[in-house]
Order: sequence, then structure tokens, then C-alpha cells
Amino acid sequence: MTIETLIDKIKSYHPTTDEALIRRAYHAASVAHEGQKRNSGEPYIIHPLHVAYILAELQMDDATICAGLLHDVLEDTEFTKDDMITTFGEEITTLVDGVTKLKQLQSKSKVENQVDNYRKMVMAMANDIRVIIVKLADRLHNLRTLDYKDREKQIEKATETIEIYVPIAHRLGISTIKSELEDLCLKFLDPDAYYEVSRLVNKRIDERKAFIHEIIQELSEELDKLNMKFEISGRPKTLYSIYKKMYQQNKSFDQIFDVSAIRVIVDTVKDCYSVLGVVHTLWKPIPRRFKDYIAMPKANMYQSLHTTLIGPGGETFEVQIRTYEMHQTAEYGIAAHWSYKEGKSKRSSFDEKLTWVRQLMEWQKTTTDSSEYMETLKGDFFSDEVYVFSPQGDVVELARGSTPVDFAYRIHSDVGNHCVGAKVNGRLVPLDHVLENGVIVEILTSKNSAGPSRDWLKFVKTPSTKQKIRQYFKHAKRDENIEMGRDMIVQDLKKDGVPPNEAMTEEALQNVIARMSFSSPNDLFAAVGFGSQTVGSVTSKLKELFEEKREKEAEKNREKESDKAALHVPTQQKGPTAGDDTIRIRGEGVTNLQVKFAQCCTPVPGDKIVGYITMGRGISVHRADCVNILNTQNPERLIEVEWDQTENTKFFSTITIRAANKTGYMASVVELMTKQDVNMSGIQAHTDPEGNTTTIVLTLEIEDANQVQELMRKIRQLQNTISVYRTKS
Ligand code: MN
Repeated sequence: MTIETLIDKIKSYHPTTDEALIRRAYHAASVAHEGQKRNSGEPYIIHPLHVAYILAELQMDDATICAGLLHDVLEDTEFTKDDMITTFGEEITTLVDGVTKLKQLQSKSKVENQVDNYRKMVMAMANDIRVIIVKLADRLHNLRTLDYKDREKQIEKATETIEIYVPIAHRLGISTIKSELEDLCLKFLDPDAYYEVSRLVNKRIDERKAFIHEIIQELSEELDKLNMKFEISGRPKTLYSIYKKMYQQNKSFDQIFDVSAIRVIVDTVKDCYSVLGVVHTLWKPIPRRFKDYIAMPKANMYQSLHTTLIGPGGETFEVQIRTYEMHQTAEYGIAAHWSYKEGKSKRSSFDEKLTWVRQLMEWQKTTTDSSEYMETLKGDFFSDEVYVFSPQGDVVELARGSTPVDFAYRIHSDVGNHCVGAKVNGRLVPLDHVLENGVIVEILTSKNSAGPSRDWLKFVKTPSTKQKIRQYFKHAKRDENIEMGRDMIVQDLKKDGVPPNEAMTEEALQNVIARMSFSSPNDLFAAVGFGSQTVGSVTSKLKELFEEKREKEAEKNREKESDKAALHVPTQQKGPTAGDDTIRIRGEGVTNLQVKFAQCCTPVPGDKIVGYITMGRGISVHRADCVNILNTQNPERLIEVEWDQTENTKFFSTITIRAANKTGYMASVVELMTKQDVNMSGIQAHTDPEGNTTTIVLTLEIEDANQVQELMRKIRQLQNTISVYRTKS
């Protein structure tokens, strides 16, 4: 490896590279590292040269290559930051400085050190992703030459790499670096397994090569007929991926399907599907092994079609099909977006890069349903972000201008609701303190906190925080109002010498709420507490009932004496509620009783529920975790109930689908619903002004939440689906 090898490599993808600049960087680094040696005994400059070469393989721009050449001089030599700014300018210096800062973290304890490492990585990423790319190249070359270090150092470096650098390379989609790092780590961390896997792979290598060759031959002949441009190559599986399947999934080498794999690269997405068609006519595909990562890219933007087939002699192999552009992203990930591209305007590529980082950040945080997540956080994401850390080292991304309160609610609503103070980098700060990039935020909570303050709404930044605080007030205020209302009634009764215990019996309360058209005593209390219902209007009725009861008792006593028949006065009853027509409840002796769903907790099918036998108004069904149930004074009235799954009960659910605007898509959705035997009670569709995407809003008659999830999963699998989420009413 010489500077000439490097320059040739760069020129292969960037003919107009600033050769003089690269040579100057090389020269400066050579002079600065003069006399220093690597553990291998070679002159030190060989290391930065290799790092720069790795960066050239990723087709990086001139500034990044220079940063690769100079990456160790600030830390290890006399060359200063000021020297560098004078000689190479701000851009290169910032990159080198970023890489240097990533290194200065050796003092603390092991665990702390790694969390810190990770933080710094992410921070640097937020500033300039190229810093991370240089760092990854540096680490790759260090691992390639790890043989020269002692065993202890090897294990330490390899462990750090597999725990910190490999996940970062993976998230950034730089699979070339990720795969090589993984194989190298395996060699140092589990040498026995490494050599065993290599032995197995090599054992039948000639056989496998012949097999792949045959497949490629056959496929090429068919594809030639299609008159399209394509490239086919055999693709070796990495040792690490085979190791993982063997050792972590406990499979034998023979059980691993796709040890043999080929890759087809074409010009357009349309061609990808044409190739897939040809592949599936030539060989029999294995069911459920087809994956369309074109329609549904992976979190790190990876796109391809994958299918596993049964080849000649019954041997299985995998085919990956993708466009050249997808291939760039698959191999180099985010680096592909920073690479030098001829004739590309700076502005547009900058925007593209920003979008990339954003998407990455969003996807990074979510595992299952990215589209749903994106919808909820839309408001938060289109402003600039800051990245802060929890004391455990988790990265939390917030809108610029966010406060500790935003942070607290992002962690969990409970943390927000009980937040009483905050520390930033260990120091107490006011709750409206604006958080800066990179700080560690610790939230102080108290179980006895009075809850959020309305004043918080004036300074919190993100829409979701505001929404959560408002939600709190809606609920918490209700609890407060119930408490206050009940108290006001008790006091008013006492004032008139009426014993509250006797006047506020369940029976009396049910009677009053029926007459005043409330659905639960709590609703009544809340209304009184809130002031929409006067205390007097309630207590007058309670007093009346109390007097009546007294009267009756007195009369009973008289009746006993006079032996007269009593006159039966039926009590007023409220009619059945809407709920009892739509959902049946199963429980001992429930059949003939009127069933109604409690309004305090509105249970839906799937929730754990419990019945409460009211006085004369049937059974009221609550969620098992409803506070009113947990605090009931009359536990003897609780009965076990459950959702009656045998009845075909339905409820409505609305889902929104975004899809590429392709003919036949709507038909495929409708067909799917018909197949699944799902009634659609509403369907609306509109296409965006550019005609690229279609939004379909479906209202479905659904049995339970699981069914909705299942349908959404099926819709996601339809070709051209972009996103599916449940519309929140
Ligand atoms: Mn280095």
C-alpha cells in the first residue's frame, strides 16, 4: 500500500479529485508520524494510509479521505489543531477533531466507558456522520492488525467492537464494514468456533462453487432473452452469519438454508420483479422465504428482493435481486449518501443526507410499527432535534428548545406527571431550562407530587408533551372533582342533620342518578365538584329519599301493629343502554340481567372485566383495573364476567393505508377483505396531487383488536403498501 495505490483508487470513482490536496495530507501525516512504529514494526503512516484506502472503497469525498490520512495526528503528534486549520481548512479539521474526541475516553470504569463511547458516537453523528465513518474505517484496520497485540488487548478490542462499532455500522447500513468487523471479532472472541465454521465452509467449497456457477449460467441464459442489463455474482455468506445460525439458533451446518447465494443487480425496480419472475419459473421457491424489502425497506434503508429456492440436486440457495442504487445503499449504507458523486448539486444531496439521518433516527427508535410511530411524532420531527441522554446512557431525541419536562414525558407519562425537578449534568435546573445537545438529564420524581402544573404548557416544546399534560388534567381534574363533589354533598347533608351514611346508600344514589340522567354516582359527584350541578339539587333528592325511607320504616312498624297490606310502589328504572345490544357478557346468572358498560372506564373486547351488580339496574361492567372497582365499598356485589367470544359481536375500527398509486391496489385490498370475510362499512380513497400515492381510509367491522392487527399485517404484505395504521378517533 502506497499513496499511489490510494490515488488510483480514488480516481477510479472520482477522476477530478484534488490530487494535490490528498498528497499534501499524506505528506503532513508522514512527517508528523515520522519515527513512530506500529506493533507490526511497520512505519506508523501505513495505518492512516489503509484507513484512507478503506474510505476510498466507500467512495468518500476528498475531505473524508484527508481526514482518514490525518486522523491520528492531533492526538499522537506535535501537529496542532491550529496548524491543521491553517493548512487544511475548517472542514477537514472538524472531521479530524471529531475523530480525536471520540478517542479520549480511556479513564473511567469499563461499563461507564462504553456508555460514554456510545454517547460520543451518536453525538458526533448528529454533527457530521463522516466522523463516524472515519472512526469505523480506523477500527476496521486496527482489527485487521490485531494479531500483533497481546491476547488481553485482543479480547478487549474485539469485545468493544462487537458491542459498540458493529451495531453502529449496522444502523448506518455499512454492511461491508459491518461484515468484516463481525468476522474479525469472531476470530478473536471465539477462535475455536471461527476455525470450525471456516473448516465447514471450505470443506465443500469447490462443490459449492460449481453449483453457484451452474445456477448463474442457467439464469444468465434466461435473462439474456429479456434484453435487459444485469450483473450476476455469487455471494459468499459471512462466517459470522453462519456462526450465528449454528451457535445461537442451534442449527447444524446442513440445516442452514442459504449457504449458497447469488445476487442479481439490474437498472430498475421493474426489472427486479421481472428477474424474480424468471427465477421463480426456473426453480421452485421455498414457501414463506420470499421477502420484499423493496416495498418494505429495512430500518437501515436496505432494499432488495430475497427468495430461497430449491436448486438442482435439491440443494437450496438464496437469490437477492436489487437495483444498482439499492446495491450502493446495501453495501455502503449511509456512506453511499456522503460519497462523492459527479455532477450532483450540493444542495439536493445535502437535503437527501438530512432526510437520511432523520429517517434513520426515527427508525432506530422503533421496532415494530414505524409508520404508526412516524405519524404520532410528525410534529416533533419536523423541527430541529437535540440529542440528550438519560443517566443510563439512553439517547433521547427531542425537538430543539425542549425542556426537562419534555424529556420526562418522552420517557413516560408517569415520569412527567410526577416530575418535581430536574438535573442537567448533575446540577439542578429549573423545569423550563432549555436542553442542549449532549447533556445528561435526570428527572426527580415524587409519588406525592401534585401533578403537572398548567404553567408547564407555556414552556414545553413538543406537541406530544402538551397533549399528555392536557390529558392529565382531563383525567386528574375528574378525580379531584369527584372527591370534591362527594365532600360537598356530605357536608350539606350533615349541615341539615341528615346522616350521610344512611342518606347516601347505593340504592339512593342509583335512584338519584337515574332521575338526573347521570350514568354513575361518580359522574354525578364530578358534576357537583365541577359546579355544573348544584349541591342542593342533589341533596334535596337524597333528603327526600331519606325521609321516605324513614317514613316507610315507621309505617312498617305501624303496619305490623295494624296488620294491613303494604302498597307496593315500583321504583323508577332507566332503560337499557346501547351496549347491551352489541356485546354479550358471559357470567354466572348474568343471562337475564340487563348489562351496561361503565362509563368511567369504557371496557372494550379484550380488556379484563368485572361485573358490578347495581340496585335494580342490572349489571354494570367495568374494566378489572377500574379505580371504582378497586375502591368499591361493596366487594360482595362484584361478579365474574367475561366477553362472550361465541357470539359474533362486532365493533368498528378505522384504518388508514398509504400506498403507491398503482392500478389494482385498491382491488387487492378489497379482495383481501373479502377473503378474510371482513365487512367494510366505509371506504374512502384519494390520491395526492402529484399522483404518486393513494390514501385509503377503511372502516371495518371487526371482532377484536387482534383481528385488526392481523388485517394490518396482511395489508402491509400487499405489494405497493407504504404504511398502515389504526386511525385514532
Ligand atoms: Mn487510528
